[in-house]
Amino acid sequence: MKELSAKGDLLHIWASDPLIRERGESGGAVTALLKFALEDGIVDAVLGVERGADIYDARPVFITDPGEVIKTAGSIYGGTLLLSKHFGKYLDSAKGLKIAATLKGCDVMGVYEQAKRDLLNLDNVLMIGLNCGGSITPAMMRRIASEIFEVDPYLVEKESMYKGRFHITYDGLHKDIPINELEERGYGRRSNCRRCKMKIPRQADLACGQWGVRKDLVGRATFVEVCSGRGADLVSRALDAGAIGIDVPDAACIKARKRREEAILNLADKWRERDFTPLENSRERLKRMMEETSRCIKCYTCIEVCPALFNTIKPYITSFPGKIPPEFGFHLLRYAHVGDSCIDCGQCEELCPVDIPNALFMHAIEADLEALYGYHAGEDMSRPVAAIMEDPDVQDVELRRERKGSNNSRRPKRATTKHT
Ligand code: SF4
Ligand code: SF4
Ligand code: SF4
Repeated sequence: MKELSAKGDLLHIWASDPLIRERGESGGAVTALLKFALEDGIVDAVLGVERGADIYDARPVFITDPGEVIKTAGSIYGGTLLLSKHFGKYLDSAKGLKIAATLKGCDVMGVYEQAKRDLLNLDNVLMIGLNCGGSITPAMMRRIASEIFEVDPYLVEKESMYKGRFHITYDGLHKDIPINELEERGYGRRSNCRRCKMKIPRQADLACGQWGVRKDLVGRATFVEVCSGRGADLVSRALDAGAIGIDVPDAACIKARKRREEAILNLADKWRERDFTPLENSRERLKRMMEETSRCIKCYTCIEVCPALFNTIKPYITSFPGKIPPEFGFHLLRYAHVGDSCIDCGQCEELCPVDIPNALFMHAIEADLEALYGYHAGEDMSRPVAAIMEDPDVQDVELRRERKGSNNSRRPKRATTKHT
């Protein structure tokens, strides 16, 4: 078959099937590609997200019947799932099945962190990356509807975030507010999402989203970056089979996409500055960590949900038996264990039953280590800093230090922790 697409292509893509176009977000490109991958035998299954009981409820779904892929059509902003851990926990690490998965930036980073730890066979995972401006917990979604918009949350038919604004539609009406304003008022995205800079996951096979779509195609096409040969093969085959239509975005679209990305990365830098500054002084940081973790009930959730930690629970059980709250060493072990590999997915904070800001602490440690060593967790298969430190070939570390920063530099330009 003639290669119709290549790595590096930037494309507008839409589904050929009118039902998928109607049900899918932005022309249904992702749904059409997933369905085609399953029909064509490129993969054995699809891992995605479907709407659950209501618009605030996102649930993971594992699909082997192409006819069911349409269940994953559309975006859900209220879900705060991390799909990457499902491979290691429930899908036998994708050893025996080829799986196509729709993955946000943190999901893709989690996939890489699991693959580094031999918990996932990367060769068997086709990564359909999704642009992500952030997610909001279902409880916060309901509060925004009732307290900001004064609308019964159960009347809301759709919520979305685009062009820097949060939107709801209900009863044939529409309301929106700038995300900035929402967050200044104490509402909005999860705190880890505010700091997140993996908004376009280009280490996936495809990176798909709305940013940069030409005006006349808004809502009818998805902007797709073809990031790998495998992604190009999927697009080529789907195009050849008539499953999708494509168009090439012009320079203005690409510029608009870049502007959008820069704006959200700048916002992330501001949030990092705001969140990390109170932790700059190491004595203050330690004090705050000890205070906050003193209410830990040792439920192990922060370990079990972490894509870099979840198979390492044993030392936590055996080293800290019988005491609640556990000694601070319980948390120090986590910081030491995963500090260099934290992808800021937020799961350990969001699911902590006593609201300890675990992700904030871990991300602050990760950001300092990154500033020192230039290692970005979740970007590729390179080894974590601690693993390199144990390696006699320490030159590797020097190489990392010299590595040019990418747009995912996880720390705004400022001094690192002041040690006192
Ligand atoms: Fe999206 Fe990043 Fe939040 Fe993940 S951590 S949901 S990629 S903003
Ligand atoms: Fe402690 Fe929270 Fe972790 Fe549970 S999730 S072990 S309460 S820090
Ligand atoms: Fe995610 Fe927390 Fe693990 Fe970091 S430490 S990767 S925020 S679960």
